[in-house]
Amino acid sequence: MISRRNWFLSSAALAAAAPSQAQTASGRFVSISSSNGLRAVTLAVTLMKQRNYDTLDAAISGVNIQEEDPEDNSVGYGGLPNEEGIVELDASVMHGPTRRAGSVASIRGIKTPSKIAKLVMERTDHIMLVGEGALRFAKAHGFKEEELLTEKSRKAWLIWKESLRDGRGHGNWGPGLDAPGEAGREAPEAWLRERYPNESPEFLAWAWEVATHPITGTINCLTLNGKGEMSGVTTTSGLSWKLPGRVGDSPIIGAGLFVDQDHGAAGSTGRGEENIRVAGAHTVVENMRHGMSAKEAVTDCLKRVARNYNNDRKKLEQFDLNFYALRKDGDFAGGSLWNGSYSRGQFRPRRFAVNVDGTARLEDCIYLLERKA
Ligand code: ASP
Repeated sequence: MISRRNWFLSSAALAAAAPSQAQTASGRFVSISSSNGLRAVTLAVTLMKQRNYDTLDAAISGVNIQEEDPEDNSVGYGGLPNEEGIVELDASVMHGPTRRAGSVASIRGIKTPSKIAKLVMERTDHIMLVGEGALRFAKAHGFKEEELLTEKSRKAWLIWKESLRDGRGHGNWGPGLDAPGEAGREAPEAWLRERYPNESPEFLAWAWEVATHPITGTINCLTLNGKGEMSGVTTTSGLSWKLPGRVGDSPIIGAGLFVDQDHGAAGSTGRGEENIRVAGAHTVVENMRHGMSAKEAVTDCLKRVARNYNNDRKKLEQFDLNFYALRKDGDFAGGSLWNGSYSRGQFRPRRFAVNVDGTARLEDCIYLLERKA
């Protein structure tokens, strides 16, 4: 039996943990996404508004554009592969109205892992399938196994292999000591031109950049309809040149994605390892549940990431992390650890895509720290 004292303590504890009241719907149709998601948010809002699509189906249709686009090297088909040259994908979905979730990790051979994540949610008693099992499950549902490596991604991977050197400047895939000329030992431009005479300077500069600075990239898309229903999806090829089997934050419910139908949704892109350590998407949603605005919720979460490194800028400079937050009342934010990045001398501010009632745009993210040139 619960004593009077314990009863008092437990109700006080419950009160402290009590969320602010569930948000009320604003009647607006909103979708937000990572910066590669302008087409995704445009499609998602169109489908919800004009064709009465369910919020999750709208979000998945949106991200399918990037998953199927060979030019997006961070998602689905054309994504940069693992260290063995094999593309492995991660994805998760959450459906607000039914409060369900599904995800797949390290799945090979399927262009649209977000669709498989939804099937896991709907057609199994599980939440997450990985690797070979996820692929077999997809095939059982009629999906075709396809080659996901494009020629562009394959060449970028090969250039990464060829760029690796030991302490004496030797690399197994680099030019041998007996190779004519100096090409390969010092100047990458020279040996790249020599080995890839038919490639454009722009491609070679990009390939060298991603070889020496492995990239992350992902698409997260959150949706809200006029009735206040919400859903979300996150899908990615993860960190380029990763160890086979490495799983990032994207398929982890609570890290790469979280939806609480009463309050809001959040997702993340960037270095997944840092996000997993703060259970980022859940943290952001939980902040909103306790009454924070979307901006405050994201900022607080980013502070926790920085705190994991005692706010040491030198260490924090090594990575980036972004959060996207959408409250049920339509308040939204995109926030990043850094204000942007420098690529080949050019500053690129960190942005996110948003569509409110049919008008899509890219907005600057709020940020915690400013990168110096
Ligand atoms: N978060 C993804 C991962 O760590 C990559 C990214 O968003 O850039 O796998």
